[in-house]
Amino acid sequence: MKLALVAIHIEPSPRALPLGPAMLASVLRGAFGASIETRVVDAFVAEPAAACAERILAGDPDLVGFSMYVWNRGQTLAIAALLKAARPGIILFAGGAEATADAAGVLADPAMDFVLPGEGEELIVEAMRRLLQGDPPGTLAGWARPRPVKDLTDLPSPYLDGTLRPGDYGGALWELSRGCPFTCDFCFEARGTAGTRRIPLARVEAELELFAAQGIREVFVLDPTFNYHKVQAKQVLRLISDRAPGTHFFFEVRSEFLDREMAGLFAAIHCTLQIGLQSAHDDVLRNISRSFDPEDFEAKILLLHQAGVPYGFDLIYGLPGDTLEGFRESVDFAMGLVPNHLDVFRLSVLPGTRLAETAAGLQLRHEAHHPYRVLGSPTFSATDLEQAGRIARGCDALYNQGRAVPWFGMLLEPLDLRPAEVFEAFGTWLETHPEGTPIETRRGFFRSLFEARGDRLLGELAVDVIACFGHADEAMEASGGDRSSASGPIAFRHDPRVLMTEIEAGATGLEELAFSVPASPCAVEFSVVEGELVLRVV
Ligand code: SF4
Repeated sequence: MKLALVAIHIEPSPRALPLGPAMLASVLRGAFGASIETRVVDAFVAEPAAACAERILAGDPDLVGFSMYVWNRGQTLAIAALLKAARPGIILFAGGAEATADAAGVLADPAMDFVLPGEGEELIVEAMRRLLQGDPPGTLAGWARPRPVKDLTDLPSPYLDGTLRPGDYGGALWELSRGCPFTCDFCFEARGTAGTRRIPLARVEAELELFAAQGIREVFVLDPTFNYHKVQAKQVLRLISDRAPGTHFFFEVRSEFLDREMAGLFAAIHCTLQIGLQSAHDDVLRNISRSFDPEDFEAKILLLHQAGVPYGFDLIYGLPGDTLEGFRESVDFAMGLVPNHLDVFRLSVLPGTRLAETAAGLQLRHEAHHPYRVLGSPTFSATDLEQAGRIARGCDALYNQGRAVPWFGMLLEPLDLRPAEVFEAFGTWLETHPEGTPIETRRGFFRSLFEARGDRLLGELAVDVIACFGHADEAMEASGGDRSSASGPIAFRHDPRVLMTEIEAGATGLEELAFSVPASPCAVEFSVVEGELVLRVV
């Protein structure tokens, strides 16, 4: 029997690995040996469904299983329809978060034969056994119930058995646990099994050694609360430091469980932490079964800041009980803690979550289909959501994509503006200034802010600071950090070499810089030579 397991990714990236299908392929090989020939197929949401279907059919499969998520449901069903039309006898099924959350809805699609909800490892073995013994696929429709794997020790590692080679993808998804001890209403993870189950340390260690041996540069840790079990988290951090010191790791952590020793262990490796803040208001968070202690949060973030660990936050707008002004306050609170990045999302009411059950009682209106976004609530109108969306876009384009950590505070201080105000204004600016490079758009925006205050001098300095950091980043990125490359000449009012020197020497204020860096119009080329940034006046 030939089986194709399909992963449809959002876009090509070091995170776009077919980990779920590869895990099923490993389990099936252990259970059935050569009786089932399994092939893992990668596809992308932007690919035409016909091209994906053709690639799947090239392996001449008898069965095709899809890993279905909220972002690929439409694409999956379009491919399924084409496969069924081309080969009416082919057996099609789906697993993954979306197929779990809305099993009946997915099964109602005429192309789908059955659905495997929840964790797939045990269910797929049972389903294949029944098909091999001749059960018609129709008998599997609606049969499966979520069946969590009790002991993760029993699962094979698709990395260690060679099913998945992270070296082919440039990155790895690294599962360390399943389940979550928390019960946030908007999150699907909260509806799984109670508590967490962990991957045994011996496997963690062996996988780390494999990542290091294959020269994997980025590893995305699949554990939504990595540091919940402090002792085990510290063990893993020590192992990383020992076995894969050159790899960059991305973790999701909870601030409550950070301590000074853990901050030091994070600082000893290459990593970025993501922390779900969601809102800075305890009363709002209690509406979704979370809580918040601002003093504790600030103290824990300070530990990371002092240790030099890069961290970013998640915020959600449109939460029940929140308001537009409340959301702005959350943005300001988050920015006050100088994150490396701030990711802002509109609330989605995902099927299968507790929020989907309580939405009507909370008078939360939301889309009935993917992406299930909130459309309004008694405290957050549709117009407020639009405005919050502008703040989110402004924040992403200005702060995250602009890598503004080194200069954002410096520019805001003389303007006497709140971060949320600046993001909101920049979100609007983007709508009216769609042309221009990202750096020029940021420069034009800040020039306008300073001119509105009648401060042309500081405005000229501000746009030079933005250009200086922006072109330095671009040059490093274009070179990949280690090859030689050069930008065209960039015009400056102030010599960027002097600017850089002053900032590196500790100048943190724009007014301070205005005294130490006199105007000196010049054109400068940014290049990277053997990994080092070089600025040359031309
Ligand atoms: S949001 Fe995070 S902490 Fe809350 S239930 Fe989901 S995974 Fe757990």
